[in-house]
Amino acid sequence: METFDYVIVGAGSAGSVLTNRLSEDAGTTICVLEAGPRDWHPYIHLPAGFIKTFHMKSINWAYKQEPGPYTGGRSIYAPRGKTLGGSSSINGHIYNRGQRQDFDTWAQLGNRGWGYPDVLPYFKRLERRVGEGDDTYRGRDGNLTVTTMDWRDPLCEAFMAGAISLGIPRNPDYNGRIQEGVSYAQRTIKNGLRVSAATAFLHPARKRGNVDVRTHAHATNIIFEGKRAVGVRYIKGGRGGVPVEVRANKEVILAGGTYNSPQLLQLSGIGSPDLLRPLGIEVRHALQGVGEGLQDHYAPRSVARVKNIKTINELRQGWHLWVEALKWATTRRGLLSLSPTMVYCFWHSGETTESSDLQLTFTPASYKEGVQGQLEDQPGMTVASWQQRPESRGYVRISSADPFQQPIIQTNYLAAELDRRVVVAGMKLARRLLKSAPLSPYYEYEDFPGPGVQSDDEFLAAATQRGTTTFHPGCTCRMGPANSSWAVVDDQLRVHGLERLRVIDASIMPRMISANLNASTMMIADKASDLIRGRQLPEAAVVVS
Ligand SMILES: Cc1cc2nc3c(=O)[nH]c(=O)nc-3n(C[C@H](O)[C@H](O)[C@H](O)COP(=O)(O)OP(=O)(O)OC[C@H]3O[C@@H](n4cnc5c(N)ncnc54)[C@H](O)[C@@H]3O)c2cc1C
Repeated sequence: METFDYVIVGAGSAGSVLTNRLSEDAGTTICVLEAGPRDWHPYIHLPAGFIKTFHMKSINWAYKQEPGPYTGGRSIYAPRGKTLGGSSSINGHIYNRGQRQDFDTWAQLGNRGWGYPDVLPYFKRLERRVGEGDDTYRGRDGNLTVTTMDWRDPLCEAFMAGAISLGIPRNPDYNGRIQEGVSYAQRTIKNGLRVSAATAFLHPARKRGNVDVRTHAHATNIIFEGKRAVGVRYIKGGRGGVPVEVRANKEVILAGGTYNSPQLLQLSGIGSPDLLRPLGIEVRHALQGVGEGLQDHYAPRSVARVKNIKTINELRQGWHLWVEALKWATTRRGLLSLSPTMVYCFWHSGETTESSDLQLTFTPASYKEGVQGQLEDQPGMTVASWQQRPESRGYVRISSADPFQQPIIQTNYLAAELDRRVVVAGMKLARRLLKSAPLSPYYEYEDFPGPGVQSDDEFLAAATQRGTTTFHPGCTCRMGPANSSWAVVDDQLRVHGLERLRVIDASIMPRMISANLNASTMMIADKASDLIRGRQLPEAAVVVS
């Protein structure tokens, strides 16, 4: 059996950062197992290619969720990257860290070293911020380039003016001291190309010579000696392929993401005995929290029809698209350099909420049946609105011992009463924004939820019919103290009760944060790399509220 110091399962956002940092020690050997192929496909790198990769099964797990109590009987689609860079290779490129209180809450749950002042140095170390920002909060020399959307569009400008007319301030940097306000989105885009975790961190690490990245390597089991993880079994080439084992001298690290890390633990006999025994899986270590606690952001997308101006819907049709392709080829700008959302707005659902609890995005485009991925033919603009810190929780549970069968994903969107209230408030704010005076020259009529929707119950019914994921699942291997029934890993990200096994990805978040998850997932991996290497942690940042 081949032996490495570390075997990392998953070359996604977390796996790529980890590989980079651990391989800085020239004497360390690392094997990275990635179920998907290399990230060669041009649509990964072309920013607007997200519309294509969204459903591309060769590089996307393309999971289906279970219908929930408030999804109107629908199974909501759950794309996940399956290639080098993982979901950061197919995501919407938005860079958003979250609020100070998100991380302070993690620390208050008993996780030492995870408060905002502790994690800020890692956010800074990772990024190379190009553009506005206070250097107390922003990094300038990391691998991850963060730019601000440079597309200027009268509809975006009118939307921001509309927000300001409602009392929402313009915020030059929502990743700075305070998140709330409205502004153009910040993105992981450099020279008109996507900056995935693989391009920023994994590929440079591969040049060091101590990293062995294996693609088409689907991990099926963790190999144990007693309670100690000593290696990983994988199938080369996917179902029906060749079984291979690799050994880890130091540690096995799971970075397969929120759906797949708990799946691999359960397949390896770690989880609730009530789940595993009926499936014929021998219980190696009973750990109730594995797969439990899933959270995500749930967003209804409000759509208005547009007049007097062209939206992206028309600009990508016929000869316009050729012009845009030429523009991108010659200047790396224009339509093909865009992200799915252009303007970000953070605001309160009510006067008593202390910090913003709503996130809204604006796009001068609209999607078929309110779903991202397929643009409509007629002019439209969309405001997606979601609650930042939902309370509802669901689970990820395997339904068989077959490692190639997708696990059951039940997010239980809107199960908590607070979540329903805040989502309804978000839809109402979206309506006010779309109907604001600065947008009136372009606003024709509200298409969804439509003028017939007026009462809270009607808004909720509309959210139930058409809400979708914002692709931010987390919290299925939660970090917490050993005496918490829900905790899977400790604050060093070691699996409770086992040796030499860590989980390091979005699944370890104990609570959903007020942001898209890519930035914080990379922060988690960067901090974890210092914990693994036993390096002195950076001094906590001194920040004023
Ligand atoms: C469509 C979409 C849009 C998004 N938009 C944004 C956005 O704009 N901004 C933002 O901040 N966040 C966004 N996100 C979320 C963000 O990208 C993810 O939260 C983040 O990338 C998660 O990182 P991770 O390391 O936990 O998992 P991933 O990056 O998903 O990595 C997991 C990796 O493990 C591999 N893997 C899984 N199981 C196995 C196995 N058994 N064997 C071997 N390999 C395995 C996977 O193939 C994958 O490469 C989006 C996500 C999606 C899907």
